[in-house]
Amino acid sequence: QFEWDPKKKTIAILGTGWGSVSLLKDLDTENYNVVLVSPRAYFLFTPLLPSCTVGTIELRSIMQPIRFLTRFKKREILFIEGNCTKVDPDSQVITVEDSSQVTGDVSVTNIKYDYLVVGVGAENATFGIPGVKEHASFLKEAWDARRIRTQLLDCLESAAFPNQTDSEKERLLHMVVVGGGPTGVEYAAELHDFLNQDITTWYPEVAGKFKITLVEATPHVLGMFPPDLIAYTEKTFAENKVDIRNNTAVKEVRQKEIVVFNRDKQTSETIPYGLLVWATGNAPRPLVVDLIAQLPKDVQNQRRGLVTDDWLVVKGSPRGSIFALGDCSATKWAPTAQVASRQGAYLANLFGHLATMKREKAKLEDEGKSPVDVIHTLPPFVYTHMGSLAYVGGEKAIADLPGNIHIGGMLTFYFWRSAYLSNLFTLRNRTLVAFDWMKCKIFGRDISRE
Ligand code: NAD
Repeated sequence: QFEWDPKKKTIAILGTGWGSVSLLKDLDTENYNVVLVSPRAYFLFTPLLPSCTVGTIELRSIMQPIRFLTRFKKREILFIEGNCTKVDPDSQVITVEDSSQVTGDVSVTNIKYDYLVVGVGAENATFGIPGVKEHASFLKEAWDARRIRTQLLDCLESAAFPNQTDSEKERLLHMVVVGGGPTGVEYAAELHDFLNQDITTWYPEVAGKFKITLVEATPHVLGMFPPDLIAYTEKTFAENKVDIRNNTAVKEVRQKEIVVFNRDKQTSETIPYGLLVWATGNAPRPLVVDLIAQLPKDVQNQRRGLVTDDWLVVKGSPRGSIFALGDCSATKWAPTAQVASRQGAYLANLFGHLATMKREKAKLEDEGKSPVDVIHTLPPFVYTHMGSLAYVGGEKAIADLPGNIHIGGMLTFYFWRSAYLSNLFTLRNRTLVAFDWMKCKIFGRDISRE
């Protein structure tokens, strides 16, 4: 049972993604009242989300209920499944609304905090391009993967429908991925495997018409990887007959076609599609945009997210009471799971120190120092990059590792798999994912629609 201790400071944590969950895992809850707020009552292992869109892995295998974590901390955490709709930085209060479809008489509550940790992640960037929100599928959340899986199978069944015209078959079986970042590349790779290993078996009459196109606005996919790994990925895609359209920006999305502009040829073209997956990166959530607007403009000057100092304190937040981590913050590091989880572990350590330095705090406060000066007496966040991995299809992966080590191929694929397996949240997740991989190898993917 969660018990509020008025003698202890309250930390409110927003989000159940990489940053917040890593903080929760390591945080000593004896020292604080801890309130966790998120509309998502589970942690999702996002690096394996593309695998769920085609059924290589089942969604439940990469989800872990958050109460599993909150129940077993030394002092219990209060978990509220809801949306934080407002942060009032001056009065240090958050407003939370019940996010369930079925709500009770009470569905809004206000919580006073001493420290707030914002780890709400980001939305999908659409750059205001018309039609994206209406017609494209994103790939960020569990429900996105479920929706893509259903749509993909819909396209296959409709293409296989008796007397379907050839041009309509071609359209329905054209899978277009927009955005050549790691998300788009890994999704296209999974689609290729699905085609090669399953569609040819279960839909032989239409398999030959199945086509995958990856549209990227810049000259190459995977801009953040070294040139040799980019070349390796583009070569692997060419061998796998996945068409990469570099230097091509999507300008408009219609119900059955996209309008693209080729920057080399300076020409526009319409491309019909059956399924359109949109993976063009991150944009800040409305809560973050609203919070930025309440803080001083001279320090909160980034559109990407909340600007923090090296201790992850949100610049301009009163008394240094707000921290931000992960994709909702604008830092010098890429918005990756790796960075967010390191930041979470760092903050857990920082809160541990803050709880034990009462005497130092009192002394500094006597000297007229503000709470943020106390935080600045602690070591800042330091990030050591452990490398980047990406799956490129056909049981091949690429790895950009520290020490300028760049590798790609089948061995890297096994390294990719073992790295992800060992990083999964619990033994339960590890077991489920390992079984899914085995099941897929022996029986193929499940092509039934839910
Ligand atoms: P991203 O920002 O890395 O890539 C988006 C791509 O979309 C860019 O290459 C951009 O040029 C392109 N784009 C933008 N607008 C376009 C348009 N109108 N038409 C065509 N192309 C357009 O996005 P992401 O792949 O979602 O990744 C987000 C973050 O998560 C990144 O920091 C990434 O490194 C990280 N991530 C890492 C991994 C991994 O390491 N395996 C996996 C997934 C995500």
